[in-house]
Amino acid sequence: MLADRIHEIAYSPTLRINAKAQAMRAEGIDVIDLSVGEPDFATPDNVKAAGKNAIDKNFTKYTANAGMPALKEAIIKRIYQDHGVQYEKDEIIVSSGGKNSLYNLAMAIFNPGDEAIIPAPYWVSYPEIVNLAKGTPVIVPTREENGFKLTPKDLSRAINSRTKALILNNPCNPTGTVYSREELEELADIAIDEGLLIISDEIYDKLVYDGFRYFSMASLGDKIRKNTVLINGASKAYAMTGWRIGYAAGSKDIISAMDKVQSHSTSNACAISQKACVEAFGGPQNEINKMVSEFQRRRNYMHYRLSQIPKVSCYKSQGAFYLFPNFSAYYDYAHDNSQIRNSNGLAYYLLKQAKVALVPGDAFGDDKFIRFSYANSMENIEKAMDRIADAMAKLVPIKKTEKKPLNNTVTKRKTFVEVEPNISLEMRHALMAESEAFMTFEGYYEWNVNIAGIVIQLRTNSPHLHDFWVENFYPAQLETDLEPHAIIYAVNWITGREPRAFYNPESRTAFYFKSAFYPQLRSLALGMIADITERLHNLHSIRAQSVDIGGKGMLLIGPPGTGKMEQFAELLKQPNVKLHSNDFVMVRYIGNEALADTVERKFSFNTDFVERFPQIVPLFDMSKCENVVTSKDECTNEKCKREDNCRLDRGAPYCFSASKVSIAMLDPYWLGGPEKHVKRTQVKWILLFRKDPISPAIVKLNPDEALKVLEEGRAQSSYGGMQSVPFFNPHLLIRSMDRLDLQKRYFQQLLKIAPCYIINSAMESTEKIKERIVAIVAGNEEAALNR
Ligand code: PMP
Repeated sequence: MLADRIHEIAYSPTLRINAKAQAMRAEGIDVIDLSVGEPDFATPDNVKAAGKNAIDKNFTKYTANAGMPALKEAIIKRIYQDHGVQYEKDEIIVSSGGKNSLYNLAMAIFNPGDEAIIPAPYWVSYPEIVNLAKGTPVIVPTREENGFKLTPKDLSRAINSRTKALILNNPCNPTGTVYSREELEELADIAIDEGLLIISDEIYDKLVYDGFRYFSMASLGDKIRKNTVLINGASKAYAMTGWRIGYAAGSKDIISAMDKVQSHSTSNACAISQKACVEAFGGPQNEINKMVSEFQRRRNYMHYRLSQIPKVSCYKSQGAFYLFPNFSAYYDYAHDNSQIRNSNGLAYYLLKQAKVALVPGDAFGDDKFIRFSYANSMENIEKAMDRIADAMAKLVPIKKTEKKPLNNTVTKRKTFVEVEPNISLEMRHALMAESEAFMTFEGYYEWNVNIAGIVIQLRTNSPHLHDFWVENFYPAQLETDLEPHAIIYAVNWITGREPRAFYNPESRTAFYFKSAFYPQLRSLALGMIADITERLHNLHSIRAQSVDIGGKGMLLIGPPGTGKMEQFAELLKQPNVKLHSNDFVMVRYIGNEALADTVERKFSFNTDFVERFPQIVPLFDMSKCENVVTSKDECTNEKCKREDNCRLDRGAPYCFSASKVSIAMLDPYWLGGPEKHVKRTQVKWILLFRKDPISPAIVKLNPDEALKVLEEGRAQSSYGGMQSVPFFNPHLLIRSMDRLDLQKRYFQQLLKIAPCYIINSAMESTEKIKERIVAIVAGNEEAALNR
């Protein structure tokens, strides 16, 4: 139901911690909230009065889309008074919060593939906003030692021909870092030289301490003013987060593009809030000074207390209302045998033990740190720091155990993209030229594998796809003068293309664009193998789980959600049952025998298999993984208790059951040693699976009936819906009549050799079904089929 883009963005983690703290408070627990991102002061009285007055005067209708003229004037004056930069009205747009301005701006400027440089630690929404606008966030880490400042060298290094913008947050959330005039000038020079747009988020510009002289990026000269879009708003300086007023100031063309975006989404920001903001920006500013001196007092105190905690370092930043101390020396410490491994673990520990809510640095792109907000009363801060000091003193170093490396890769795209399976030869040539143009740029990887005697060459610019490819299949010994039988171009980084795959059967070339989601590369390869070997080598590709019982093979076929995997796991628990394949077999018919082979060196398991087969967890720990969930925000498991017993909250580095799209590349021999896995078996039985409320638990099908069920590829599953996948085999690439006929003929042959039973897993427990299967294997069909 949901769009792909939703799977590519995470919930705002800062909001989630807040929610958790609130839930604890609702239970009567005295939680001190240092996770907050808003001033604890009230909106100034004169501003509130202006808002009330707006309502009384019926100023409650639409305003100009980009903001009412009086407010634009107040903003222009404000910027001029604060920074000495003059803007015109058509260079200003008022939005529903600074965040909304940033979103409109991203929509207005990014084309797919355009890159935005974001120094880390960063405010959580920047990368997601860029992603939503189909740009590419490029994260550039900064260093604690130099106050988390982006250096000119780091900036220059990150720039390439695709770079469009730098998002600079000054003062910075979460680090509190403020840049001096000289530091800004150095960055500005590079931006001008390279034609970069600087998105200067100055929402905390008034909150600077120690008499720091603040400079706005736009104030550094005409040239940089032209290359800058200022983002600011009323939220922080006027304690008006709920009023939702922000603005952008920049060149006319960009502002009018943002105007367009806004006109079709939010339209004007709230009229009442706009009126109030005329007073906020235009009226007396003395409340700000009071707020700043109070923040400074709290920062000093909090910084002092943090620096008293052994092994914690904390940069004394001069802006915003956050400190960002480094707690990483405590990762590998434990309390009551519960180990802390990362910032999530530590924040969770402090919430439970000290009852203080904080935001883990992981959310801001640096796991070593924790964000402390001092937008809370001095009294609360004192209490919180006492409790934190006590809680930290309770932690003890754990005995060093050897850490297992988990080789997790998180891919941007997590679903299958559309495949065009029958492209013309001309198109193949064009796509090949295009692919090769993009391969020369970045890293290029090539690797030949042998799948059932067919040599497929992968050409890719994705290190991850290359890595998994090498892991998954047997390498091919290619003689220098031997051409591969088939080629796949997997071009993850390519501009001007939508994510998509293509296949040309004639030249046996496939293309896989803009995705590093490995299951699809694997599926493409298997589909190509099926296409080639069924036509030319008399090999039959079947999508099935398969087990070997004393040299005799049993295939389990059916769509997901029919209890097939549960039964597969159940059967494997039997001592005489060996694993043959977990997804795909190739069958060769010789006389009256159907010899089934596995073609993969490693099996990819969906990691949520652990829910049915928890013994497999230590094996997944040793496997290469894709998209294993490392933070709770990415959890897609509805069943999983999100509240209290999540291992990620307790600092575990990953969860295998939290995602429906994560895979682990497991060596089948690890499951039970060499004794428990065979590469070849002789198929003797076929089990088809369905899950519906009416059919009997088990029925023996005659070959014609079985063929019909297979051909239609429709079976009720617990996911509802009756999608048709011919022969239950989604890997089959070409589904023309003649190709499906070929499958049918192969299955006809198989059904002559192996009897077929259809099982309805809705009717009986996995245990009970297993008993019937055991009876089938023992040759006691009568017992197997009795009701
Ligand atoms: N930029 C930064 C760096 C922020 O911290 C925030 C608020 N957390 C915003 C922008 C957006 O604030 P608003 O939408 O309330 O104006």
